[in-house]
Order: sequence, then structure tokens, then C-alpha cells
Amino acid sequence: MSVISPDRAKLSLAALPLGYITKSKATRTAPSKTASCASATELRFKLQEGAAQLVPHERVSRCCRWLRGGETAVEVLHSAAEERAYYSRLEVCGSVWLCPVCSAKVAEVRRKELRQGVEVVALGGGTVLHLTFTVRHTLGDNLDQLLERFSRAYSRMMGHRTYRTLIKPTYGIMGAVRGLEVTHGAHGWHPHYHVLLFLGSPLDAARLALLDAEIRALWVSSAAHEKLSMTRAGLTVQGAQHAAGYVAKWGAEEELTKSHLKSGRGESSSPWDLLRRFLDGDGRAGHLWREYAAVFKGRRQLVWSPGLRALLGLEDETPDAAAAALVATDAKHLGWVAFSDWMLVLRWRLRAQLLNLAAAGDWSVVADFLGELRARRLAERRARGLEPPLVDLPRLLVQLSLAWSVGAFSAEFYGGGVA
Ligand SMILES: [Zn+2]
Repeated sequence: MSVISPDRAKLSLAALPLGYITKSKATRTAPSKTASCASATELRFKLQEGAAQLVPHERVSRCCRWLRGGETAVEVLHSAAEERAYYSRLEVCGSVWLCPVCSAKVAEVRRKELRQGVEVVALGGGTVLHLTFTVRHTLGDNLDQLLERFSRAYSRMMGHRTYRTLIKPTYGIMGAVRGLEVTHGAHGWHPHYHVLLFLGSPLDAARLALLDAEIRALWVSSAAHEKLSMTRAGLTVQGAQHAAGYVAKWGAEEELTKSHLKSGRGESSSPWDLLRRFLDGDGRAGHLWREYAAVFKGRRQLVWSPGLRALLGLEDETPDAAAAALVATDAKHLGWVAFSDWMLVLRWRLRAQLLNLAAAGDWSVVADFLGELRARRLAERRARGLEPPLVDLPRLLVQLSLAWSVGAFSAEFYGGGVA
């Protein structure tokens, strides 16, 4: 079986005319503000490859890689307004936890929804508070059990009679949105909720302090019921300005691209940090990420309390999978990448580079790039003593043989065999 080994694929990638990319028309004319977007796109696709290696049986390993059933070529769309390109006709996994590519797209949609909610409340004279709930955690904690107890404690608190019949009406609480996050640090897994509390009226400092004390007492007792204890920073309650800052940063680029989060007790890593460390050769980080993926997949990341969206006049929430597949409203067809070319893009891990080239909206740049890949492939075959075919084989046979030659259907291609 002729399968390109990861090492050889790496060598091939190193030999690619990547200088071409930096000299391309697209990059020469691209405005500098898109440079950071371009590098973030590359990082996301790179991290997605790490995820695919760690959980090859999950949909993330096919995301933005496999053609959807019945499709024969990859379509590239372009938005002039956003100076951005998109792939179409490919599978999209929609996982906010496992897929850095989908996670970014879902976050864009969620950020807009949150911002809308905050604006509606502000217009109505209300305010939004930002609360962070955590519990004490240690290195030996099992993430699955810790998270179960943590979320049960939170549900217990929000469903508690004191909250529903006393705290909620007293402070004019319309509802809450909770966002689940997790980091890993010196003290093990650290799940936490960021909660936006929507209030129908403003709160002065004295009443804010009262609310803080009442919720804190409730959180301590709810956590204790699940045999969890609070650290000193087990609850923080912050005002409207902080809430707005949180919303503005929801899933933003810096969350992905900063290498470490600093917490009060030293460094902690986000799941994307763990993936990056795995790609840098840290096997333990890969092991931790697998544990995280098994526990978090399928969970809801951002949950609006029942009735809150209706109260704020917001439409129904776009499901994750649909949000991940959304493109800019002005996105138009830019060009097609033939299946055989797509195999080369995958083989040399150039999905992000192609998208970045296409972002300028000039298909001739992408076509030149694909031509370079074909030439490189031909040169490589000649170097291995394989002559190009003299006659065109039927389309299907060509596609299948190319897919086979790059190991597109092998576990190795998708990173199998990694410990
Ligand atoms: Zn995905």
C-alpha cells in the first residue's frame, strides 16, 4: 500500500514553493489588517489537524476536509465586504469544543447574539453583571466527575427557592446566560462558568455588594451539597463595564492565539493550548486533551435561561452546526478546487493558505497556486521514477488513485498511530 508517511509529507511540505505564497498578488495587495486574521486561520487549521490526530473517530477529523456526500469538488466563496473566503460543499463538524475552526465561526454568531442582548437591556435602562463561578480543584480530580458535580451545583443554585423567589425579584433579574469553560493548570482541571446576569434596572454599589453576598452564600451551600468547596475566588461579581468587555472578547482571536492564561495560582492552559503543546511534541498534553474531548463533546457551551431570549426580543438560537456553516451574506462563488487538487491541498496541509490567498477575491491567484501544487506533484512523481500517465484515465479512476496515493482514506493520513 502506497501511503505517504507523516515524515515524508513534512519533507514535501518543506519543499513546497511557499515563497510563492508570500510573493503572490494576494499578499502584495492584502491590507495589513488582515495579516493577523490570516495567521489565526493558519493556526486554527493546524490545531484542527492536531485534534484529528488525537480523536480520528470524531467528526472533527473530517471537518473542512471531506466532501459532503454527492459533491465532487470544493467550492470557494468570497465576501468582498469582509475580505474573506470560505470553503463550501465540505463536511462541517460544528463542534465548539473539539474543532478550532468551527469554534471560531460559532463564537462569531454567539458574540453577536450576546451583544444584542446586552444592548437591549441597556436601552431599556437595565444592566448586565458578569459573574464567574469556580470551585476548589486538585490535580487528581477526574474531569468527568468534577464537571458533573460542578454543573449540578450550579443548577441547584439557580433552581433554589431563595434564588427564584427572593434574589431574582428583589434585584429584577430577567435571566442569565452561562458560558462553560475549562483550563488545566498546576492544580489539575479547572471548569468554570462565566455568567451574564441580565437585570431590568441598574444597581448601585451597595445593592451590588448585597447581591454578591447573597449569591455567594447560595453558591457555597450548593457547592457543599455536591461535596465541592469554594476557593477565595470561587465567585466574582463584576459590573456592566466588565460584562461588556467579556461579551466583546467572547471567542475572540486573542483567546486562541495567546499562549497561556495567567491565573492567580500560576499558569493554566486552555484546551487549544494543550493541542498546540501536543503538536510541539508534548504527549501528556495530548493525553489531557483526549480526556477533555471525551468529557466535553456534545455539551452546550453557552446556555440562555428559559424565556430570556424571548424577554429580550431575540430570535431562536442558531444551532452550533448551522452557525459553523454560516458565511457572510454577500459571499459569492469565487472558484472550484477539483477533487484531485484538493487531495494535494490536504496532503501538504495548505487549507488555510489557500483560503488566505482567496481572501483577496482574485481567483487567478488561487489557480496559479493550484498549478504550482500540480507541478510539484508531477516533479515528485518523476523523481520517484513514475511517469505521468500518457492518456487521461476516466475521472473516477484518477480521483480514486490520487486519493489512494496521498493516503486520504488511511488512518495514517489523518494522524492515526499517534500515542
Ligand atoms: Zn469543525
